[in-house]
Amino acid sequence: MTLLASAPLHPDAIREVLIVGGGTAGWMTAAAMTRLPAGIRVRLIESEEIGSVGVGEATIPPLVTFNAMLGIDEASFIKATQGTFKLGIEFVDWGRQGDRYMHPFGEVGMDMEGVKFHQHWLRQAQGGDPTPIEDYCLSAVAARLGRFTPASSDPRTVLASLRHAYHFDAALYAGFLRRFSEARGVERVEGKVVGVSLRDSDGFIESVRLADGRRLDADLFIDCSGFRGLLIEEALAAGYEDWSHWLPCDRALAVPSANTGPLTPFTRATADRAGWRWRIPLQQRTGNGHVYASAFTTDEDARASLLAGLEGEPLAEPRPLRFTTGRRRRQWVRNCVSLGLSSGFLEPLESTSIHLIQSGISRLMALFPTRRFDPVLIDQFNRLSQTQFEQVRDFIILHYKATQRDDTDFWRHVAAMDAPESLERRIALFRAGGRFMRDGDELFSEASWVAVFTGQHILPQDHDPLADGVPYAAMARKLAGLRGIIRKTAEAMPTHETFIARCCQPP
Ligand code: FAD
Repeated sequence: MTLLASAPLHPDAIREVLIVGGGTAGWMTAAAMTRLPAGIRVRLIESEEIGSVGVGEATIPPLVTFNAMLGIDEASFIKATQGTFKLGIEFVDWGRQGDRYMHPFGEVGMDMEGVKFHQHWLRQAQGGDPTPIEDYCLSAVAARLGRFTPASSDPRTVLASLRHAYHFDAALYAGFLRRFSEARGVERVEGKVVGVSLRDSDGFIESVRLADGRRLDADLFIDCSGFRGLLIEEALAAGYEDWSHWLPCDRALAVPSANTGPLTPFTRATADRAGWRWRIPLQQRTGNGHVYASAFTTDEDARASLLAGLEGEPLAEPRPLRFTTGRRRRQWVRNCVSLGLSSGFLEPLESTSIHLIQSGISRLMALFPTRRFDPVLIDQFNRLSQTQFEQVRDFIILHYKATQRDDTDFWRHVAAMDAPESLERRIALFRAGGRFMRDGDELFSEASWVAVFTGQHILPQDHDPLADGVPYAAMARKLAGLRGIIRKTAEAMPTHETFIARCCQPP
């Protein structure tokens, strides 16, 4: 998008945007808004006294596009954020204790004879072949070998099937985006918001009041104030839909630890007695945390479990966080759009929170209003946001629902609970011959769902009859050949450390 700096603005154009909050959501929004036409003033208020959650360390591949859209150089970003590369998430002990499977990014196998790859794999598995589906995915094989290189742009090579994301220090990313945004005209205001004034005529936000008495007005307000939802909830009462009956985890403890072994190019999520633990490798430290359900364990037991699972020395006291899983009923109300934790929260099992910020920003940019705030735009934004939150919610619930663990009350509870009808339908469809239908432009691909279904033992008894078009033995040879190419390609890639060292070298 090239904008003419001198072009006159639309007569009803938004002229002042005020972002409240400077966590990951606030600074990602500010950075994206540097692309608005000149003449639109963007300000961001944050309070050093309040601080940010700043835990988000693991991401999914679309963030690569977000950074590229801003023109951010990947090597500078990795260097500035202590970043590492991520090829997927390893799930340990989820389906059964002792299980280990990868939800890799990137493509898995390839469709053949007009039939989905996983159907060919299913047919071979039903015929007795024990090869896990991840062996047909370069991202998964490279991740397990500790290798990394970005995807090739040549679609004829298997290297084109890779996708990557990042692990990074969220506070450093916010700082990086702050420098980026301020250099492009975003004005930062240090201060604590203590009041919000609504216009008498229509209830739109007129201004916010800071603790030192200053008043800041704007046409469009973006609420990035975190869990409280200072504008969207406290001032505009958007309402909150609580999903904790499906996702009972409501607390977390986060702690950094010293690095020990090689930097794995994947996040690890290990199921625990009443929740799960994350492990996220950064260049200088490892990020760890334990997400747990307070109805099923105590804070002391959760802390002990987290510390017992660390591979290196803890570098700080575990930091407690509390949350209620769910979503803001209306994420855009009048002239206020909520992004980030103020718009809802889903536990970071699939590293989706930062992505939900990114996609909220894209939606806002695609539906950017004038000062007339056409209700059709607001309604569209809210409907799309609801659909996306629900789709991600279902994918996360699947990890709990599809467990065969019965060793604690927590696992017995989540295995027995009623899942949302939308998820029950998907599970039933997959059980009936491995069928899967993606809804529109939903975030997680068929390959992602298949990875979790099969990794957690939802294995259909049958397969697509069209997969029988190729003789079993011929398909077995084809698949063995594909595995060989993938393995060889992964082995020829540099180690993750070597790639990072190259990336972070001074120019
Ligand atoms: P916050 O980080 O809370 O920032 C809020 C901002 O608002 C701060 O700058 C604060 O100063 C400001 N503010 C608040 N009140 C006021 C006021 N009165 N006046 C002025 N300023 C104010 N996401 C991922 O994508 N991957 C992960 O691996 C991941 N892990 C997570 C683990 C846990 C346990 C939790 C809880 C979250 C995790 N997330 C993860 C989510 C991620 O942390 C958030 O999505 C991200 O940090 C965005 O937060 P935010 O900017 O919305 O809010």
